[in-house]
Amino acid sequence: MTMPKAPNQDTLWRRTARTPFVTSADLPDRADVVIVGGGFTGLTAARHLARAGKSVVVLERAALGEGASGQNAGFVVPNFALMDPPAVIAKLGEDRGGALLDLVSTGADAIYQTIRDEGITCDAEQPGWLNPAATPAAAQLLRQRADHWRARGRPVRFLEKEEIRQQTGMAIYEGALLDESGGTLHPLDYLTGLALAVERHGGKVIEHTPVTATRQDGDGWVVTTPAGQLRAGALLLCTNAFTEGAAGKLGRTTVPLRVYQVATKPIDAATVARISPDRRPVGDTRKNLFTYRLDRDNRLISGGMAALPWGAKARLGTAIVARLAQELSLPEVPETEVVWTGVAALTPDFLPRLHSLGRNGYAGIGCNGRGIALTAQLGRTLADAVLAGSAEGLPIPHRTARRIPLHGLTPVAASAGLIKARLTDAFSSSKD
Ligand SMILES: Cc1cc2nc3c(=O)[nH]c(=O)nc-3n(C[C@H](O)[C@H](O)[C@H](O)COP(=O)(O)OP(=O)(O)OC[C@H]3O[C@@H](n4cnc5c(N)ncnc54)[C@H](O)[C@@H]3O)c2cc1C
Repeated sequence: MTMPKAPNQDTLWRRTARTPFVTSADLPDRADVVIVGGGFTGLTAARHLARAGKSVVVLERAALGEGASGQNAGFVVPNFALMDPPAVIAKLGEDRGGALLDLVSTGADAIYQTIRDEGITCDAEQPGWLNPAATPAAAQLLRQRADHWRARGRPVRFLEKEEIRQQTGMAIYEGALLDESGGTLHPLDYLTGLALAVERHGGKVIEHTPVTATRQDGDGWVVTTPAGQLRAGALLLCTNAFTEGAAGKLGRTTVPLRVYQVATKPIDAATVARISPDRRPVGDTRKNLFTYRLDRDNRLISGGMAALPWGAKARLGTAIVARLAQELSLPEVPETEVVWTGVAALTPDFLPRLHSLGRNGYAGIGCNGRGIALTAQLGRTLADAVLAGSAEGLPIPHRTARRIPLHGLTPVAASAGLIKARLTDAFSSSKD
């Protein structure tokens, strides 16, 4: 799979960004910590380390925002897409599983706290996140899931059929889970705000500097870039789904999933009041997920995946707005403002991971499409590993990095999975 190369891809976020970032100084010779990858994970780790007094350099292959952190849809969702609290406990045990659940479920609060602490202007809204159930069985599952999260002290509750109809204007749902800590933001402005915060705390964020290789050197690391080498006491690899240069050892441990996003032109106030009276972002339980949120100007943002890659951007753009119009009973198909795409990284068990790369070297990955809230915790945990000199005992599972066999073929499997999911949805709605 070729990772996203298009520089300056036209996205809603590039069109509406309010915070410019000008890259800092040239590559220094030395630093306490070098971080490869300037997405949410790398910049969050950098911010914590710089605040702890470390000299930190973040090296970013392209311009900030040309990874998933600048291409996502800006839904801040503090839970796992495909893992339930009991499944996490069953897999990791009460102590480690419980610690991971507590970490993940406080991810949205951590993000909004950082935004307040650093004064980041990024259209941050925390009205809660809605997860409507498309079938009675899904409603039953969400009712139990809400109970699990509430038992862990989280502000999560189940909404009955009529309540979710009032929240979405949609009569098809059987109920919904509401997590009051979720919300939305402008991802590129948040990313830029994080980079500016890193620099304010004394770190450096250097764009257009791909790391081609990393090697252990005694207790420390040497990283190689086209601009020269840098020696550091510790290395963090935060390159997500990418597989080029030094990123290959991490990216090939996950399945890349290409996702398309669409923003419409702003919609009218009466429709906003009907489909999103409290401006809560929505992501339902169907396998062929239906999602929508509003941006600050009331554009509708939604997304989807293509079963077949050919002509996918144009095809998906048309299909996603048509679906918005149909599902939300809009008076007409809204005009499209922009369609863009990015690659999310899925781990085989849908849980995030830390990997040791050697002495004082760590990698973190696995946000599984719910990365915004999770990167707040993954980045902090990576920083904690550097500060402690060990990843043992941290709440994110620590695994040996294993390349996925036949990694280049995984997009084909993802397409097959999507076709199956669409058939499953069609089948389950015809049964209910
Ligand atoms: C289209 C799309 C929509 C999504 N929507 C949502 C959403 O609404 N809500 C949500 O929670 N999550 C969403 N996600 C997931 C979320 O965006 C990611 O999980 C999150 O941004 C991951 O952050 P990251 O920093 O780990 O990775 P990235 O943002 O991908 O950052 C990795 C960085 O490493 C850099 N890099 C790679 N190789 C090198 C190298 N060799 N040298 C130097 N730099 C390198 C890349 O350029 C990139 O900037 C979405 C993902 C996609 C693709």
